[in-house]
This record gives sequence, structure tokens and C-alpha cells, in this order.
Amino acid sequence: MKYNLKNKVVLITGASKGIGKAITIKLAANGARTVLLSRNEEKLSMLNDELVNKGFQSIYQSADVSKLEDLEKAVEYAKNKWNTIDAIINNAGITEDNLIVRMSMASFERVVDINLKGVFNGIKSVSKTMIKNNYGRIINISSVIGIIGNKGQSNYSASKSGIIGLTKSIAKELAPKNVTVNAIAPGYIETDMTRELSAVNQQQLLNLIPLNRLGKPDDIADLVCFLLSDEAEYITGQTINVDGGMVMQ
Ligand code: NAP
Repeated sequence: MKYNLKNKVVLITGASKGIGKAITIKLAANGARTVLLSRNEEKLSMLNDELVNKGFQSIYQSADVSKLEDLEKAVEYAKNKWNTIDAIINNAGITEDNLIVRMSMASFERVVDINLKGVFNGIKSVSKTMIKNNYGRIINISSVIGIIGNKGQSNYSASKSGIIGLTKSIAKELAPKNVTVNAIAPGYIETDMTRELSAVNQQQLLNLIPLNRLGKPDDIADLVCFLLSDEAEYITGQTINVDGGMVMQ
């Protein structure tokens, strides 16, 4: 165990694969009690079995983050099991790329509904419990694209920039209640989301990354564990880039 997260009850959205899955496994390995959420119940169940078989405490529930009632139900489920919620990792997200002239309003709305409204819903569903407990940790997964923008990703970029403003506002609101709120802005991480990039695009990307490699899901998971640890108790309202040096401000 690198960080002491013993018995902390942590909800992770988008836990079924990619970055969310890596975060979940690392949180469990550091002692957290994990609540796995995403739409794909089958994948969640498989991951949950893996964790439970290793002796970790874990539960799962299918939830669509664009629906507040799904997240509220998940919070109730976790509280019935473990009485409290210590943290939420708002990680679920999608891309639906297109140039503005071809992007439909429906596509814009789908991405904003899941990526931005999903984070709002996640925060809303846990905030009363955290205020009552006078303790909580909220981590929102933004993106380098929310900071620098990208052609063909206006919906995604807008949603990820929105997360940064949301993070700062809620950090200010909840600081008096000892709840910290931070965002992580990953660069290009090897998951299904980036797997479709062509070899040419990959090479072009590498030229933009000083550390000369794509990131791994564990690069994000390590920071999540740190931000949930007592060592990070004085950090709030920040957006921390984990991108191999791609964005330097
Ligand atoms: P991924 O492999 O495609 O995984 C996305 C996760 O989100 C899945 O678990 C998916 O599960 C879940 N999800 C999607 N829509 C959902 C919904 N409506 N409700 C609940 N869960 C939903 O993507 P990833 O690369 O791990 O990305 C994770 C996060 O990191 C995203 O927010 C993404 O924008 C961000 N990010 C990724 C990169 C990168 O390079 N990969 C870079 C910057 C930021 P189900 O399908 O089971 O619902």
C-alpha cells in the first residue's frame, strides 16, 4: 500500500474500463471500499468479482451519469452498505468528434450531458452527505483538450472546460465543509478512447509530448490515490495536468 485509503468509501463513474478501471483497481489496492458505476453491468460485475476475489471490499451498480436519479440511487445503495460516502471520482466520459459544420445539436448535447452534466450530477448526489460529514473528496476528470481545444472536438472541449469552472466553483462552496474538489486533465492516455488514432496521428501526437510517450491509465490512477490521501488535504480547486508535459502554462 502506497497511500492509506483504508475503508474510504469511493464512488467511481466509468469504472468498467480504461482510466476508471485503473483508478478502481489502484484505490482498492490502497484499502478503499469501491463502488463501481457505469452503464455496462456485465463488465462491472466481472471487475467487481476480480476485486472481491482478491479480498477487497467492492460493490457495483449500473448507472447512467447523465441521469441524476441513477447517481442518487447509487449513493443510497452505497450508504445502505457502508453508511457513508468519502469520495467520488467523476470519470465517465465520451467523445463524438466532428467539425462544427457537420456536428449536430444532438451530438453536442449528448457529449455535454454525459461529460459535464454527468459531473454536476455526481457532485450533487454526494454533496449533502459530505457536508453533513464535514469531510469529502471530489475528483473530476477533465482533459488537456478542455485547456487547449482541438479541431473537431468542440463538444468535448466545451464539456471538459466546463468541468474546470465547475470544479473551482464547488471547491469554493464546499471548502468551509472540509470537502476538497480538484480536476485532473489527462493528456493522451492509452485506452479505447484513443486506440483508433492512426499511426500517423500517433506520431504527430508524440511530437507534442516532451516525455515522448502516451500516458497509461495508471498515471492518472496514481494521482487520484494521492489526492484522496491525507497528504493532499491542503489541495483544492486545482486542475492538475498529467500529460507528459504536453501543456505547460
Ligand atoms: P473509455 O475507455 O472509453 O471509458 C469510458 C468510461 O465511461 C467507460 O467505463 C464507460 O462505461 C463510461 N461511460 C460512458 N458514458 C457513460 C454514461 N452515460 N454513464 C456512465 N458511464 C459512462 O475512456 P477513458 O479513456 O478511460 O476515459 C475516461 C475519462 O478520461 C473520460 O472522461 C475521458 O474524457 C477522460 N480523458 C481521457 C483521455 C484519454 O486519452 N484516454 C484523455 C483526457 C481525458 P459504460 O460504457 O459501461 O457506460
